[in-house]
Amino acid sequence: MELKTRHLTPEEIDEAAQILREGMVVAFPTETVYGLGANALDPEAVKSIFRAKGRPQDNPLIIHLAIAQQVEGFVQEVPPQALLLMERFWPGPLTLVLKKTEQVPDIVTAGLDTVAVRVPDHPVALELLRLTGFPLAAPSANRSGRPSPTRAEHVLADLGGLIPAVLDGGETGWGLESTVLDCTVTPFRLLRPGGVTLEELRDLVPVLYQAEGDGTGTEAPRSPGMKYQHYAPEAKVYLVTGDGAATKIKELSEPYRKRGEGVGVMTWDERAELYPSLTVLPMGPEGNFAALAHNLFHLLRQADILGLKVLFIEGVSEDNLGLAIMNRLRKAADQREIKM
Ligand code: AMP
Ligand code: MG
Repeated sequence: MELKTRHLTPEEIDEAAQILREGMVVAFPTETVYGLGANALDPEAVKSIFRAKGRPQDNPLIIHLAIAQQVEGFVQEVPPQALLLMERFWPGPLTLVLKKTEQVPDIVTAGLDTVAVRVPDHPVALELLRLTGFPLAAPSANRSGRPSPTRAEHVLADLGGLIPAVLDGGETGWGLESTVLDCTVTPFRLLRPGGVTLEELRDLVPVLYQAEGDGTGTEAPRSPGMKYQHYAPEAKVYLVTGDGAATKIKELSEPYRKRGEGVGVMTWDERAELYPSLTVLPMGPEGNFAALAHNLFHLLRQADILGLKVLFIEGVSEDNLGLAIMNRLRKAADQREIKM
């Protein structure tokens, strides 16, 4: 059924809260990306999230809380080291996976005995959580497999006609999804890099991180969402890393150019002049990882709007925020990574 999706301003937040109380979904801004929220304690409401996104049922959702104390009742225990992290990073882009209680509906956790929780650091998200009084289950507000939305217009492009409303809080801050940390194992395990970096976590507690694809491939994914393709624009994406990247990109782009097909390259602003005959998607000033994270998903969506057939992306260093950026780029490239 085609709906007319309402585009609400923060002044109309009461209406968003009312839609949620009626058991429907609303897209709302957070400091990471836009989330598609529903009452986490209402299984029917949560079902609508999966339906609107076309999200596989075995990919669990993150529960968003107004304050840290609200985890009580939803998790069996908070290990002391997890408490330390909550105190340091909440509200903020850190999701903790903990043992769940029976209060958490199975549909939220895809039947797992663990639940993912966080407190978002965004005034509109926090106000919405306070107004409804219930926790919001919310994955990113994109159609499954598409780049996460960092502007209300991205949400409307994907979910317009499929959801009752989007609450527009402008561009999101970080631009990448939260860090996901499994706190049910010792040492804690980083399941998805994000805004809170591995280095920051390790300053406080021991954390294990095994990059995807670097192992034997025999281990089942610990974060169910990791097995699905993500962040993919229509264009075929190649991730090219190393000193010879520009030469390689020019060589690989030739056949596309000869056929008259749109070729894009995502590179730092200062390097744009290396690619006079390609469409440049500028990453921001060289080395400004925060600016790149902020723009990343918008640039991937631009590739589609420009009708690019192929997009070459220059890889970046994996220190600090670079780890989360490269994690998203590898998924967008779907294994097409060339190391020079
Ligand atoms: P999204 O909300 O679209 O950013 O996706 C949420 C991410 O958190 C997915 O990668 C999920 O697999 C992960 N996640 C949610 N709940 C759990 C859980 N209980 N255990 C492990 N990973 C989880
Ligand atoms: Mg997502």
